[in-house]
Amino acid sequence: MKNMIKAKKKYGQNFLKDSSILDKIVQSMPTNTKHIVEIGPGLGDLTDKLVKYKDVTAYEIDTDLVSILKSKFAIQIHSKKLKLIHTDVLKIWNEKDTLHDGNYDLIANLPYYIATNIILRAYEDRNCKNIIVMMQKEVALKFVAKTDCKEFSSLSVLTKLFSSEARILFDVPSQSFVPPPKVTSSVLFISKSKHIKVDDDFKKFLKISFSQPRKKLIKNLSVMVDKNIIISIINELELNENIRPHQVSASLYSQLYIKVKNAKRDSTN
Ligand code: SAM
Repeated sequence: MKNMIKAKKKYGQNFLKDSSILDKIVQSMPTNTKHIVEIGPGLGDLTDKLVKYKDVTAYEIDTDLVSILKSKFAIQIHSKKLKLIHTDVLKIWNEKDTLHDGNYDLIANLPYYIATNIILRAYEDRNCKNIIVMMQKEVALKFVAKTDCKEFSSLSVLTKLFSSEARILFDVPSQSFVPPPKVTSSVLFISKSKHIKVDDDFKKFLKISFSQPRKKLIKNLSVMVDKNIIISIINELELNENIRPHQVSASLYSQLYIKVKNAKRDSTN
């Protein structure tokens, strides 16, 4: 491999080596945001294309890669076109609530082991405006799934709440990477709408709602409040008592949450 670097599995390293795919990602960038945050620049192939268009802040965890990147991009780092930060990106999000002080788009070939977590953190980051990321296709489908599809999940509900648009731009075969991953990848585009705050209890509520995805929603929610109360809430919302978790829309989940929360409060008073 180029630079004689051995890909580290623990950091989810699959380097994208297909120049036509890299070009397609760059061409998909929205034009209105001026700054880009890249998570995991790796050997810098995507970074190299991104810095030609916009200023980039890149977060890389791997010490060996950081030293390669520092020499490869010495000019861009010196001219401040590229800010290279050697760290675990999740640590930054734990310490501060944003990856960049100013609006930015997140563009990355994500390390798959933390891809979902990264997108959920980006939803909460008020400065992140658009997300264009490569990830495992199977997981990407969960983010964009519509109500009634079997992939519809808590990730789909959260995406509906945080975004104005979410779609898969294109798939990328495993041969485009070195080393090739075992799965097909997809490039996902998410445009965030206004910044909203989703409370942690709502996320827990979604987790419980989808805990057994093929069972009835009533059964899943019965661990929170008495089953008869859940049945009356389901009836109030004019939903079918046999409804499964993937058949309820994001806006109905918001309404259900408030009613279940109130019922829970009343039952403990
Ligand atoms: N962007 C490169 C490319 O397209 O070829 C590399 C992509 S590779 C799938 C994922 C990159 O994320 C690797 O460079 C890896 O070291 C880096 N990475 C993994 N975990 C990270 C973390 N917690 N914080 C920052 N970078 C991380």
